[in-house]
Amino acid sequence: MTSLSLDRNTLDMRRGACPALSAPMMTGDGLLARVALTEAITPAQLAELCRLARRHGNGILDISARGNLQVRGLSEASAPILDADVRALNLPLRDGLAVETPPLAGIDETEIADPNPIAEAIRQGAREIAGLAPKMSVVVDGGGQLRLSDLLADIRLVAVSTGQGTGWVLLLGGTETTGRIFNVLRETDAIAATLELLHKLSAMGTTARGRDLATGLPKNGAARPAASPFGNFHVSENLFAAGVGPAFGQASAEDRIALCDEAERLGIRSLKPAFDHSLLFFATQTACEALIAFAGNNGFVTSPSDPRSAIAACPGSPACNSAAIATHDLAAKAAEDCGDLLDGSFRLHVTGCPKGCAHPEPSALALCGTNDGLSLVTQGKASAEPFASVAFADTNNSLRRLADLVRNERQAGENSAACLARLGPRRLAAAVMSGRP
Ligand code: SF4
Repeated sequence: MTSLSLDRNTLDMRRGACPALSAPMMTGDGLLARVALTEAITPAQLAELCRLARRHGNGILDISARGNLQVRGLSEASAPILDADVRALNLPLRDGLAVETPPLAGIDETEIADPNPIAEAIRQGAREIAGLAPKMSVVVDGGGQLRLSDLLADIRLVAVSTGQGTGWVLLLGGTETTGRIFNVLRETDAIAATLELLHKLSAMGTTARGRDLATGLPKNGAARPAASPFGNFHVSENLFAAGVGPAFGQASAEDRIALCDEAERLGIRSLKPAFDHSLLFFATQTACEALIAFAGNNGFVTSPSDPRSAIAACPGSPACNSAAIATHDLAAKAAEDCGDLLDGSFRLHVTGCPKGCAHPEPSALALCGTNDGLSLVTQGKASAEPFASVAFADTNNSLRRLADLVRNERQAGENSAACLARLGPRRLAAAVMSGRP
């Protein structure tokens, strides 16, 4: 068994802490341990992880918004056993700094450049840098069809084609749109500059983040919107990827095992957990199409047009002690009743409390659980000033009134996000409160 100290100092319950495999974090339904992978695994290996989640936890295996697997409902006794059992599977576990690449990195024929060599050089170089913030992350994005543009990163390298070949734009803080441009560099310079910035951040202490080095730098602002990971993708030659995901990132071990068994039956040999709570299975076109059909028939999200893929919901009640509402029930209802509002132009944020774990960025519309019901926020984080507050009993009606308002007021060619922004908090509040949009 691994040596795993589970005293209260080790159980890191601070806001913003990352629950790693050997340092699980306390949540509303017990300890949560993260299994972060650097490469693809087989469906049989994922099924085995699901069995471990069932044996040692409460059987729920999340896929996080960044594409990490999370085992929930562990106890102080079972967490170390899970740690040992997972390590015994010899999976490609991430160790050290989170240096993330898109799920199709290195195999996507539309990529400007393969980000893997740069990512690996940064991982190696960062091994000797101690004292970085626990959630420090570096994104290296080669500019292919599935990009990590919407994920927050302390340091981000994005491939661009220049007159002299491939360059790497180095951004600090934020998403690809909100990050600040530090420089445009060649590959070796990009690696050296990233490591130098990490050294600087480590010297500033464990609370320093990439944005702290960005003062005065210009905003990027020019990112292409990130494509959804759901659906069938041509990757290269005869290789396709089937992107499917459990609604709101959470499924029982049984459902996931059934999906993995079907993948094995179809001859699929590799998969990766990916951003937006998705799983990408790699295979021939026929096998991918068959798996997508199976997943769709079994309640998984399989298409970007599924309104559930336009909702970011945290685990909520009863999974999290801080939650005031059952976020998944509310999100499912919103997907059912407000499909036209959820046109993919924004992410509806449904959160159990103002911490907003599922969507740290501002959203065009956020629904946040409170002691008295629900607060509604527009163009802000869940913790921002709400434009309206409603009782639990009026939640569904309020959402429907908002959807009706947007449907009636939408101008030609205008998407929901633009319409919500144009209407503004007063019109939205009037619609919610009066019921007469
Ligand atoms: S945002 Fe959700 S998961 Fe995060 S602490 Fe609040 S209720 Fe819990």
